[in-house]
Amino acid sequence: MRIGIPAETRPGETRVAATPETVKKLAAKHAIMVQSGAGERASITDEAYAAAGAQIVSAADALGADVVLKVRAPSPDERALMKQGAVLIGMLNPFDADNIGAMATADLSAFALEAVPRITRAQSMDVLSSQANIAGYKAVMVAANTYQRFMPMLMTAAGTVKAARVLIMGVGVAGLQAIATAKRLGAVIEASDVRPPVKEQVESLGAKFIDVPYVTDEEREIAQGVGGYARPMPADWMRRQAELVHERAKLADIIITTALIPGRKAPVLISEDTVKAMKPGSVIVDMAVEQGGNCPLSELGRTVIKHGVHIIGEPNLATLVAADASALYARNVLDFLKLIINKEDQLAIDREDEIIKATLVCAGGEVLRK
Ligand code: NAD
Repeated sequence: MRIGIPAETRPGETRVAATPETVKKLAAKHAIMVQSGAGERASITDEAYAAAGAQIVSAADALGADVVLKVRAPSPDERALMKQGAVLIGMLNPFDADNIGAMATADLSAFALEAVPRITRAQSMDVLSSQANIAGYKAVMVAANTYQRFMPMLMTAAGTVKAARVLIMGVGVAGLQAIATAKRLGAVIEASDVRPPVKEQVESLGAKFIDVPYVTDEEREIAQGVGGYARPMPADWMRRQAELVHERAKLADIIITTALIPGRKAPVLISEDTVKAMKPGSVIVDMAVEQGGNCPLSELGRTVIKHGVHIIGEPNLATLVAADASALYARNVLDFLKLIINKEDQLAIDREDEIIKATLVCAGGEVLRK
């Protein structure tokens, strides 16, 4: 079987869907066609891919393979180079109906890895987790870089410097890593989330949980989320959360917001009034900026200063850690591939498999996920 790894063409995308490590494992059984320069932005040379057993080819050859491994959904130009019936694996944005429709029309069998279910068997294929973990780490790094003070408490001959206060909004995979990273840098951390199990996780990392009590059974029930993901909370709970967060934000030096609700606009958690109440020179990293933002003042792809607060709207922080983000993503993809390749090294797509059902967005010209 021919497996293609094209270079990503989406602006700002630095990652690549296979690394020499994963190519080596695949090359024993398959022809691996890596587009020349595909790994360049992740510091992987063509020579390293070739040494792992890949053939270095043109974009047309990589995209024309039987199975194409990508990070992002193909552009119309890329789709045009893919062959009918090819298998495509990547972060294909399963909620983008137009894109899924176009891939169905191109007769691709496309797997959107963001839709991998949160079951134990699928953990090694969970791209959202592998990339969110990296993004959570990098969020703290970019915040620290912009912040004009120290993160840790310091006692020096010239006097004492206070530790930075960091507020983390949304404690999923990214938020937990942000807490752990800020903790390592010596910050004092508080965090908020809607889901009940989060309190214990936050406290186990040495941070303080901002408790917004549930006052109705409905609130408690919605807060459980579904499949590990949050659901939109009732307006009254959101109002009480906002009041508490407003008070905590006034004291914070850095706020990192990560709150997402799958398939929806991100919830607004840091209002303009709250930004106005923050200290000058403080920093917000809005990791939900691509989904509309947790702060209405954040701007996609830009760092802006509003009311004296630096607001960072970098949409894809994992791309700033291109080498490790690619390494982990490529392992996720390799594990997914094992699911659709049988012992005879042929494609075998079991439509009854729970992971296949969740991720296969189109096949045979048909859209399978609406
Ligand atoms: P996510 O990226 O979808 O959302 C980020 C966080 O924002 C979540 O914790 C969510 O509860 C929170 N949030 C949503 N609305 C909010 C609001 N109004 N205020 C504050 N916070 C809000 O989440 P995620 O990182 O994908 O992880 C969600 C959970 O799933 C985590 O507990 C994670 O550990 C778990 N998980 C399980 C598996 C598995 O079992 N295989 C895999 C990955 C993640």
